[in-house]
Amino acid sequence: MKKILLISACALLLSCGPKLDDLAVNRVVEADIDLVNVENDMVKVRIDPGRFTEETINYYIPRTVPGTYSNDDYGKYVENLKAFDYSGSEVTVNKTDTNTWELTNATEVDYLEYLVNDTFDTEGEVEEPVFSPAGSNIEAGENYFLNLHMFVGYFSGLDQRPYEITFVHPESLEVTTSLTEMTPEKASAGVDTFYAERYFEVTDNPVMYAKPDTETFLVNDIQVTLSVFSPNQAYSAASISDEMEKMMAAQKKFLGDLNTTDTYQILLFFSDMEETSPTGFGALEHHTSTTVVLPESMPEPMLLETMTDVVSHEFFHIVTPLSIHAEEIHFFDYNNPKMSKHLWMYEGVTEYFANLFQVNQGLIDNQAFYDRILRKIENSRRYNDEMSFTEMSENILMPPYKENYANVYEKGALIGMCIDLIIREQSQGEKGILWLMKELSAFYGKDQPFADDELIPKITSLTYPEVADFLTTHVEGTEPIDYNTYFTKAGLQMGTDTITTAVLFRDQQTPFIDANPQSKEIFFRDIPLNSLLTELGIQGGDVIQSINGTEYNLDSAQQLVVASMGWQEGDPIEMVVLRDGETVEVSGTISQPTVTVDILREDPDATQEQKALREAWLKG
Ligand SMILES: [Zn+2]
Repeated sequence: MKKILLISACALLLSCGPKLDDLAVNRVVEADIDLVNVENDMVKVRIDPGRFTEETINYYIPRTVPGTYSNDDYGKYVENLKAFDYSGSEVTVNKTDTNTWELTNATEVDYLEYLVNDTFDTEGEVEEPVFSPAGSNIEAGENYFLNLHMFVGYFSGLDQRPYEITFVHPESLEVTTSLTEMTPEKASAGVDTFYAERYFEVTDNPVMYAKPDTETFLVNDIQVTLSVFSPNQAYSAASISDEMEKMMAAQKKFLGDLNTTDTYQILLFFSDMEETSPTGFGALEHHTSTTVVLPESMPEPMLLETMTDVVSHEFFHIVTPLSIHAEEIHFFDYNNPKMSKHLWMYEGVTEYFANLFQVNQGLIDNQAFYDRILRKIENSRRYNDEMSFTEMSENILMPPYKENYANVYEKGALIGMCIDLIIREQSQGEKGILWLMKELSAFYGKDQPFADDELIPKITSLTYPEVADFLTTHVEGTEPIDYNTYFTKAGLQMGTDTITTAVLFRDQQTPFIDANPQSKEIFFRDIPLNSLLTELGIQGGDVIQSINGTEYNLDSAQQLVVASMGWQEGDPIEMVVLRDGETVEVSGTISQPTVTVDILREDPDATQEQKALREAWLKG
């Protein structure tokens, strides 16, 4: 009998290759991201997958990721991708499309190396920039805002393998992410290693490195972390966290017994609106975190209101699509995605909840809620009202559907509202759409997708024939919704009123002008303009060249707003605008502008039954 020390047996195994556990099909994919040695605003990434067992393997960077509903070709931000064999010599890599690299002698490949650019810098240079919260920022030594689908890809057939992701980072910066940190044996100052169970988790957990500015609070049993990067320190985590805590506590109360998550991270990036700063404002949902990009110049009350609307929307995605979703989402194909038909639910119902919970929990009053609903009706008129919502959703990556995408937040939310009112009416106020979503979540859940065509029959079996009729006629079908039919159930009336406005603003949320972040042009929006602008002959789409001899563009937008507030009745006004490439001069005299607007009010003659339904709808 001969015994060898276990340790030398291990050493023996380690020294002679190929190592037993070194096969790519058995081990983790190691990804090393170097945030210290930034070259030309790019970071170096090294991917070590282990030994491949097949000769031909593709490496993919996603073409799209869940939640963005657009083809963004993240591969175009990757440069100089090279593969090396075990002796350190370069081996052939064929780039077969924007997002695909083919390894033809894969069994020889030891690791890949490449550089990755960020998206924030180049938003102004491309026609359809990546939505900022889905993109990335690389600002050496200052800030790294990293959606990892831009940095780490997957190998064909191996996307279910776990990943070990290591960041070497400036020691002065701290990480915020919902990724699981690995056992600290490997940890040292300036190095963090995280674990992802499969490629999906790599994409589902964004990372931010920044100077520490973090607040943590508890909402029932959820630990929420808010991490802020504000380049000019206009805001801090501490200045926002009270409002976020109040808002999320209200959401949790609204959701009741619905299972959510143990932790939630909010990664908030403020743009200082410089040349290389992001302008795609908003947020992107993930299962346990959200990335948010907003302008630093936003005044505090507006910022808090926007954060409430945006973060609550992302958090409500925990209900759908995160717990209720189609197979198309569950088995998401990052490079050849199939889209589900049910954006009305994923985005529409989520957006509806983000408004309903605020009136339900007393964060806003009834009238403020009606005004929000009314604005959605107005905004929805900018899109094709006769387009089937399920057909649009299924084809959302292509024209003419993609131009109608933003309607999922307008008409999509109104669809949610109508279904809510139908269920309330049929159940004598007892149940609503939140109840329906809880039923669906209990039936399916985050690990059990539905077949796309089975959702509407399932909803029908859980609810009422009236809900099925509505879905067939107005969601699958093309018939526009007559909202008054639904408002009447709750004793509300839609009508019109003439109101006074400012010259350039109807109200705080509704300016008559907007700007193009790329060209910096300020133009008049295609909405009903006030009496003064109409009398001057201004039309929607007109681009402002100058007003009273002063030229304006996005950089001087604030001066324009300030100047407009000083205009007095009887003052002369001269405007030069560009219309279809031609210069048009208009002039006149300032008068009190008015505009006719839609209104949504409680009917003073509402019956007891209508009032009871209204109460159940808004407060139930
Ligand atoms: Zn959303």
